[in-house]
Amino acid sequence: MSDKIHLIGLNKDELAKFVLKIGEPKYRASQIFKGLHERRLRQIEEITDLPKSFREKLNETSTTSTLEVESRYVSEDGTRRFLMKTHDGYPVETVFIPTEKRDTICFSSQSGCPLKCDFCLTAKLGLLRNLTVGEIIEQIVIVLNDVYGEANETPHGTNLVAMGAGEPFLNFENLIKAIEIMSEEDGLFIVPNRITVSTAGIVPKIYEFAKLEKRPHLAISLSAPNDELRDKLMPINKKWDIEELLQAAKEFQNSLRKGERFTFEYVLLGGINDSVEHALDLAKLLKKYNLTRVKINLIPHNSAEPLEYKPTSWDQVEKFKKTLEENGVSAYVRTPRGRDIFAACGQLAAKSEPNLVQIAN
Ligand code: SAH
Repeated sequence: MSDKIHLIGLNKDELAKFVLKIGEPKYRASQIFKGLHERRLRQIEEITDLPKSFREKLNETSTTSTLEVESRYVSEDGTRRFLMKTHDGYPVETVFIPTEKRDTICFSSQSGCPLKCDFCLTAKLGLLRNLTVGEIIEQIVIVLNDVYGEANETPHGTNLVAMGAGEPFLNFENLIKAIEIMSEEDGLFIVPNRITVSTAGIVPKIYEFAKLEKRPHLAISLSAPNDELRDKLMPINKKWDIEELLQAAKEFQNSLRKGERFTFEYVLLGGINDSVEHALDLAKLLKKYNLTRVKINLIPHNSAEPLEYKPTSWDQVEKFKKTLEENGVSAYVRTPRGRDIFAACGQLAAKSEPNLVQIAN
């Protein structure tokens, strides 16, 4: 595979150039694009509107599917976790989260993660490698096919979140290119407005992201109201501290469209960052930087060995939320999903325990 061209990771221009280069008419590019993205076909042979000889020629130089599903776990709450492998053996995890109103696919931007957030299991893997454009898109195609079958319909109702393994802003170019390709109308047609990217706070990239014309929504993982605590929980804070992060957030706020808001995520860790004082400090901090067009997503910590954090009691979660609200900050609690199959936030660590219920493909 390594020297073959990964067709699903090419945008329309690149695909057209590729087709012309191998001596075929340009409209073949559109047939390939629709076959892979709109019809979600996984093999070149299946794009039967292409002549057989052309399909054979394509197969010699290029490939469409490089990710393989190793195992698939289904939670008692309906969440599905897909543990996949790249062609060179690296783990990739993707999660499907159904809710009554809409479905969400949580995808990974990296295999493993280089950031060492103390409360996150993915951090224990370290960075294995960045995912390619094609590998990012393939995750979505694989999950959509699993859930909806290989239907011709475009999945208008699906939201995407770049909140799986990895730090999306450390694989910025590939992420943005994948998002552009996924938004094509004759492809997956998942528009940026349906996508949220979460960053631990790669400050220069927040400025860059703010300048993009068609961009997804942004979530910033804050998780502490002061540098002393954030340094311990999220070592990236030693590189870009809260002052630098919130200045960038302010700049981002200035670039918001009418009616749009952005999000701060705050992982609640029992006895560490979840007191009423912490909530008051957090509200003060937002006020100090005049961050008014924000909401806070409170994420109760999902534990997993060997992480040593205790969960915050529900009573305390409510108190924290109420304190924020009383101080003029909108706050929501993210319901934990798929904890039983290691699919919840911060639990993606390529776990494949035999005691998890595994449903064969
Ligand atoms: N690297 C990115 C995106 C991945 S994680 C980021 O840090 O934003 C998505 C969210 O899950 C982040 O807000 C992260 O802080 C949170 N998270 C990590 N580990 C967690 C855990 N064990 N329990 C609950 N949330 C966790």
